[in-house]
Amino acid sequence: MISALLPNYARADLAFERGEGCWLFTVDGRRLLDFGSGIATASLGHGHPHLARAIAEQAAKVMHVSNLYRIPQAERLAQRLVDATFADSVFFCNSGAEANEGMIKMMRRAMYDAGKPERFRFIVFEGAFHGRTLATLAATGNAKYLEGFGPVVEGFDQVPFNNMNAVRNAVGSATAGIIVEPLQGEGGVRPADMQFLRDLRAVCDEFGLILGMDEVQSGMGRTGRLFAHEWAGITPDVMSAAKGIGGGFPLGAVLATEEFAKALKPGTHGTTFGGNPLACAAGNAVLDIILAPGFLADVERKGRRLRAELDEIAREYPQIYEDARGMGLLQGLKCVLPQGEVQAACVAEGLMAITAGENVLRLAPPLVVTDADLDEAMVMLRRATRRVLPSAAKAAAK
Ligand SMILES: *Cc1c(COP(=O)(O)O)cnc(C)c1O
Repeated sequence: MISALLPNYARADLAFERGEGCWLFTVDGRRLLDFGSGIATASLGHGHPHLARAIAEQAAKVMHVSNLYRIPQAERLAQRLVDATFADSVFFCNSGAEANEGMIKMMRRAMYDAGKPERFRFIVFEGAFHGRTLATLAATGNAKYLEGFGPVVEGFDQVPFNNMNAVRNAVGSATAGIIVEPLQGEGGVRPADMQFLRDLRAVCDEFGLILGMDEVQSGMGRTGRLFAHEWAGITPDVMSAAKGIGGGFPLGAVLATEEFAKALKPGTHGTTFGGNPLACAAGNAVLDIILAPGFLADVERKGRRLRAELDEIAREYPQIYEDARGMGLLQGLKCVLPQGEVQAACVAEGLMAITAGENVLRLAPPLVVTDADLDEAMVMLRRATRRVLPSAAKAAAK
């Protein structure tokens, strides 16, 4: 018989009662170091007093009023994001997929408003992940995820990542824009070449295309800058954010310059929950922490440290790891053995890591991770690596 909770996930048999910083405590008393952050989302870790208090205080005042009324918490959060980014205006929603849907609609509608309704297609990339709704699945283009869900939403042309010739060849008279993750998370922790991002900006300028950036996973401080594209010294025209933006509270956003934001006039797009007082109180509390002086610089420093240690571990155990890759506090180890085996060994040692495409073990600790946490994580990772050595030897002998 089917379980009451729909079994569409392959869940690990771990249930948590509470958390503190980077640590999670299971209902049966185990203590685990969380280097997954609920998929790069709980960026302030668990039980962060400032975030928890902001949510509790707002919940006691007013949680939800709908977008029929002004929402001061959303106005403030939008202004702070505008002040900190390329954007002139922000639309709030509830998830990454929904942010990407909003971004896709904004890009198409902007072309329509510019008198070019025939320009509705997008160039997207192999290894991308943009979400599980019908349009974002089409943008993701992964055959496994699309199977059995009817006609694929029209208008997405997939080309190899980091390949500028392929992009240039794909530009046509129906192209509206390009949608790219500056650092592919689900796809295997694959960073875009910074020159590739600059070239995408240039090709958009050359052909009058809109540059859309999916920063759902790479944004909100994850790489040591507020958004990962900043490393390339370019700005997109529109951008999606979610995951870390609410520190674990469901919140998503579409950020855009005025030229494109103005396409979503009253009546063109909307959501009931999006940007409600409670979600925006969470978003503001997250920004209080990550925009505090020195915070992002420290994320960058910790990211470099984590990466240096992963490089060393990969060098030490070439029979287990091919290489380390990533940016800031979103790092990956490309595994030789099935990544799930390494992940299970990590959990056995007390370290929660997650997996990603291309057989990569993904490490995305909360941005508040301490140096002591990093020390412990690396001890656990080394132990886990030694645990799978016999399995690697067996595989090599075959
Ligand atoms: C997780 C993710 C999404 C989808 O976000 P949901 O909140 O799960 O809908 C979209 N894009 C990227 C890059 C992501 O990592």
